[in-house]
Amino acid sequence: MKIYSEQDVDRAALADARIAVIGYGSQGRAHALNLRDSGFNVVAGLRPGGPTAKRAAADGLEVKAPADAVRDADLVAMLTPDPVQPELYAAIEPNLKKGATLLFAHGFNIHYKQITPRADLDVVLIAPKGPGDLVRRQYEQDKGVPCLIAVAQDATGTAFARALAYADGLGGARGGVLETTFAEETETDLFGEQAVLCGGATELVLKGYETLVEAGYQPEVAYYECLHELKLIVDLLHEGGLKKMHEFISETAQYGDLTRGPRVIDDSTKERMRAVLKDVQDGTFARQWVDENASGRDNYRRMLDEDLAHPIEAVGAKLRARMSWLQS
Ligand code: NAD
Ligand code: MG
Repeated sequence: MKIYSEQDVDRAALADARIAVIGYGSQGRAHALNLRDSGFNVVAGLRPGGPTAKRAAADGLEVKAPADAVRDADLVAMLTPDPVQPELYAAIEPNLKKGATLLFAHGFNIHYKQITPRADLDVVLIAPKGPGDLVRRQYEQDKGVPCLIAVAQDATGTAFARALAYADGLGGARGGVLETTFAEETETDLFGEQAVLCGGATELVLKGYETLVEAGYQPEVAYYECLHELKLIVDLLHEGGLKKMHEFISETAQYGDLTRGPRVIDDSTKERMRAVLKDVQDGTFARQWVDENASGRDNYRRMLDEDLAHPIEAVGAKLRARMSWLQS
C-alpha cells in the first residue's frame, strides 16, 4: 500500500484556496483551525445564531450561513453529522462554484447514494483516523493523525492532488495518508464500529459484567474487572499490538487468554460478524438507518435509553465520581 507523506504533496493544488468548513463539531473545529493555521482562507458554514457559530466566531473564524459560506469557496468540507448532509447538500448545491471540490470525512452519503453531487465537482474523502480533538492536538505539536484519502469523482483532473493538499493542511501528511476508496472506507468503518469497536466491545463488557453479577459477585468489583480495566489492555494493544500486551500481563493472564479467549469469541462469532458485514455491503444497514432518520428516530432513541438504563451505568457513575484523575 502506498502511504503519502509531506514530500508527495503538491501545495500548488490548493494554493490560495478558500475553504468552507460546514459543521463545527468534533471534526469540523479541528479541520477549520488546522487549515487556518496552515495558511488557508477558511470560512465556517454554520446555522446563524446556533451554539457552534458562537464558538467558531470566538475562535476567530469568519462565520456565515452554509449556503453563503460556499459561494466563493474552492473546496467545501461537509463535516456535519452524516444524516443531515443530504438536505444540507441540496441547500448549498446551487451556490457551489463550478469545478469546486466537495470533501467528506466519511463516505456514507456518497457510497450509499444519499447525495449525488453535480458532475462538474470533484468529490473526495479525507478521513482522519482519530477524533477531532486528537487531530487538533497533534497538529499543534507539529505532528499529525494519519488520514485515509479517496476520490469518488474527478471532474477537474486534480481531485487527488487537492485532497492530498487538504490532508497536508490538517497535518495528516506528517502522520501518513493511506489511499483507499469510498466503498472500502465506508464499509470497513461501519463494520468496525458495529462488530468490534462500539457494538462488539460494549456487548462484551456488558455480558462479562452480567455473568459476574448474576453469579453473586459484587457489582462494583465486576465493574472494575469488566469495564474499567479494559482501558489498560486497549492502551497496550494500541501502543504495541498483542506483543506488548503479553509483555505487560502476568503469565497466568496469558495462559487464561490463550486457552479461554477462543472459547468466548469463536468461529460462530465470526459467522455472525460476516452476517453483519453482509448487511453493510448490500446496503441493508444503510437503508435501515436512513429510514430510521426519515421516520423520526423513535426506535433509535428508545434503544439508546435502554442501553443507558443498564445497571452498569449507575454503578459506574458512582465509582467514577471517586476517580480524581477523571475530573477535569
Ligand atoms: P459532530 O456531531 O461532532 O458535529 C456536527 C456539527 O455539525 C455540529 O457541531 C454543528 O456545528 C453542525 N451541524 C449539525 N447539524 C447541522 C445542520 N443542520 N446544519 C449545519 N450545521 C449543522 O460531527 P463529527 O463527529 O465531527 O462528524 C462529522 C463528519 O466527520 C461525519 O461525516 C463523520 O462520519 C465524520 N468523521 C467523524 C469522526 C469523529 O471522530 N467524530 C472521525 C472520522 C470521520
Ligand atoms: Mg451496545
